[in-house]
Amino acid sequence: MALKIIESCVNCFACEPVCPSQAIFAAEPHFLIDPKKCTECEGAHAVPQCASICPIEGALLDSLGEAINPPGSLTGIPPEKMAQAMAELRSH
Ligand code: SF4
Ligand code: SF4
Repeated sequence: MALKIIESCVNCFACEPVCPSQAIFAAEPHFLIDPKKCTECEGAHAVPQCASICPIEGALLDSLGEAINPPGSLTGIPPEKMAQAMAELRSH
């Protein structure tokens, strides 16, 4: 079982030093998690440390492919409200 970093990662470096398994590494075009090393932080922390510190919603997926920090979870802005605001911005 391992987490996965996807393309919305902005290479901020925040997750790499907090991983207890040294599973995260810089790569092109974005950071990656070595699935052989990731333990999902089991036995070390109550929650995955990379997901706790990552500032980008949706950049980390669990082993089922679900976003750990889904849209709205960090900003507190409901996704539909964000979509509406973005549509308004684009219309100007
Ligand atoms: S879930 Fe834990 S072990 Fe896996 S990459 Fe994230 S910080 Fe490292
Ligand atoms: S904390 Fe998130 S955005 Fe930053 S490098 Fe890690 S996965 Fe990418």
